[in-house]
Amino acid sequence: MIVDQYGRGVSYLRLSVTDRCNLRCFYCRNCKYLKFISHQNILTYEEMFELIRACVDLGVQKIRLTGGEPFVRRDFLYFLARLRDKFPFLDLRITTNGTLIANKVQALKDMGINCINISLDTLDADKFIEITGRDFYHKVRTSIDRCLEKGIRVKINVVALKGVNDNELEDFVRFALTHPVDIRFIEFMPIGGRTMWNKDFYWSAKEILTAAQKITPLILQQKAGQTSGPAKIFGLKEGQGRLGIISPLSDHFCDKCNRLRITPDGKLRTCLFSDKEYRLLPLLRSPKLGLEQLKKVLEQTSRKKPLGYNLLSRDENKQSVCQRVMSSIGG
Ligand code: SAM
Repeated sequence: MIVDQYGRGVSYLRLSVTDRCNLRCFYCRNCKYLKFISHQNILTYEEMFELIRACVDLGVQKIRLTGGEPFVRRDFLYFLARLRDKFPFLDLRITTNGTLIANKVQALKDMGINCINISLDTLDADKFIEITGRDFYHKVRTSIDRCLEKGIRVKINVVALKGVNDNELEDFVRFALTHPVDIRFIEFMPIGGRTMWNKDFYWSAKEILTAAQKITPLILQQKAGQTSGPAKIFGLKEGQGRLGIISPLSDHFCDKCNRLRITPDGKLRTCLFSDKEYRLLPLLRSPKLGLEQLKKVLEQTSRKKPLGYNLLSRDENKQSVCQRVMSSIGG
């Protein structure tokens, strides 16, 4: 496995298969400046296989496919099936908005996908339209129900937004009490130039936990050596599900970061918060270069992974720590 300059092992790749999305979440990308990556600059599935092969050879064990919305990309399900065939031992994960998967749940189950992350910032159908610009709330709820029926674990990711969904904390906790899901609140991160990041929206992990404790007792579940990534997970007394907190701002986890990200246009980002990107597309498309060259570049650049939190400590006057929006990095 690659070990970077700070001694962190690099074992996890987040690969974004598209920057396109069927939702228009107000905080994710500013539609006024909406510009998609052109088709010829998007990684083909064959190029993704090549990248994954290189990463796996270098010790990556877990891959998360994300976007944009991965399921808007044509033949994504077919790509997943081939990926599973080619790399049967890979820990394969997906992050989706859940709007397009209700009729694909059985196929996902058959491929051995046992856990899916679904983003859902509200349990109110009208507010869903306000946040995302689309009337798709019930589609997401159906997908969650289908996953649970088929025995696929569901982690629901909620971006914590003061003034938007802080008044729904009790509803989310009740949902976790009555459904076998993990509800994970994620602190709103200052990502993407020209997005809506604004400290007024910031709802901290501490505030969320303090308020949740008043609704139901929370029991910290992480044991030594156990990892659920950057999330702190709490069991709920007498509840079916769990509550999680991901706190990149108030309690960053950069010193344990094991991730690489590859954008839909084939740029390697070794840190979410850094706009330093390494262009892999020319390497993949050069007839003279091959897998070994690709691996060499991946290895050399990954070793230089920045610490991260030094980038995150924001200058108050700045809107965001990096320019790319989340949907084109791969959230
Ligand atoms: N379409 C997929 C989905 O909805 O999960 C994958 C991509 S989406 C960009 C991934 C996640 O990033 C979503 O949960 C979204 O809410 C979250 N996100 C976008 N901008 C964010 C920000 N500034 N801070 C925290 N989370 C953000």
